[in-house]
Amino acid sequence: MKITSVKSRWILDSRGNPTVEAELQSNGQWFRASVPSGASTGTHEAVELRDGDPAFHGKGVQKATHHVWQLGKKANGKEFKTQAELDSFLIQTDGTPNKRKLGANALLAMSLAGARAFAGKKPLYAHLASTLMRKPALPLPFANVLNGGKHAGTSLKIQEVMIMPTGAKTFREATQMVAETYQTLKKDAVTRFGAPAGNVGDEGGIAPDVPSVRQALDLVWRAVEENGYSQKMALALDCAASEFRDSRTGAYPVDGKILTANELLTHYVELQGQYRFVSIEDPFHEDAFEDFARLRAAFSGKCQVVGDDLLVTNPARIDRAQLSCNALLLKVNQIGTLTESLLAAQKAQSFGWNVMVSHRSGETDDAFISDLATGMACGQIKLGAPARGERTAKYNQLLRIEEDGVPLAKFRLP
Ligand code: PEP
Ligand code: MG
Repeated sequence: MKITSVKSRWILDSRGNPTVEAELQSNGQWFRASVPSGASTGTHEAVELRDGDPAFHGKGVQKATHHVWQLGKKANGKEFKTQAELDSFLIQTDGTPNKRKLGANALLAMSLAGARAFAGKKPLYAHLASTLMRKPALPLPFANVLNGGKHAGTSLKIQEVMIMPTGAKTFREATQMVAETYQTLKKDAVTRFGAPAGNVGDEGGIAPDVPSVRQALDLVWRAVEENGYSQKMALALDCAASEFRDSRTGAYPVDGKILTANELLTHYVELQGQYRFVSIEDPFHEDAFEDFARLRAAFSGKCQVVGDDLLVTNPARIDRAQLSCNALLLKVNQIGTLTESLLAAQKAQSFGWNVMVSHRSGETDDAFISDLATGMACGQIKLGAPARGERTAKYNQLLRIEEDGVPLAKFRLP
């Protein structure tokens, strides 16, 4: 893949903040990619470079876009044989361990646009599958239909209540099940709590002002039952516990109580016994490797334990978490290049873990992750609610891919 020109600009993400977009020319064609952005970010993530000047209240990305232009000048006329070669050129040009010089947002825009250039006329998912020597498979969607935590601004401390259509035979059926349940949930929430309860959070899920996750789970499960899906759907949580832990005392004020890590573990075990959720993400704060491990042991064979802020898609942290989790949340912008993301997945899978490709709470209309999860055949994708353009872009791309005859993965616990 020979790069003949590179352009970059800022565009807006779904929260109205600027983010980096890159375009790369190769073989007479232009290939584009843009970068998402988190709100409940892990402190160990690669650096998202923001300008910190008055424009956009510090959130400008002029420096990062300028760095893409600079990388482009350096890459111009160069031939890259593989994605790994392109990404190591990006990593070496930055030269820092956490990509703070050029910004992970600058590097990732180039890396993802580069992947599309490598794919050329081939569908991106098919290109990724063939370089990984896998048969493509559509991932099961984890749909965040009820938003709390930093994505909602309500009393609910736990960030995400997700539904997962485990009994769907096709991705189209899965999407219909998710969309029907979502509409029922919205209607029920408005009936019970009044019109504002139907307003949505950052990921398109409704954001009713419920004080405990029990009430949120009750509301969601009722909508599942009303649609007749109780045998074909499962629940999942993302607690994003770093966001509500009191860093001074180490306690967790959640669900109307102030809990120690031990008490929180008991709370999760009770909740899982009642609601049978099959996946729990970031149940404790981002450095609580041992608390994660105790929960993983307690949930063995019942519920996967997913590391997001704990792992930040970083192979070194995955190594440290070998007994703490059994699923990796893979976010490409946490590490900053496609190659490193794939290495993280490979490491997780070598431990027998599951891998869930994930969006961020700040997204663009770029559906790269839909192709990525399909090409990796990893079986799981976290997509938000089936509402708002930046979320539906991902569902819609998966619906299109299904028309190529790609099968839907089955859920299996690690
Ligand atoms: C998450 O925590 O899994 C998430 C998608 O949110 P954010 O992008 O804000 O980190
Ligand atoms: Mg998370």
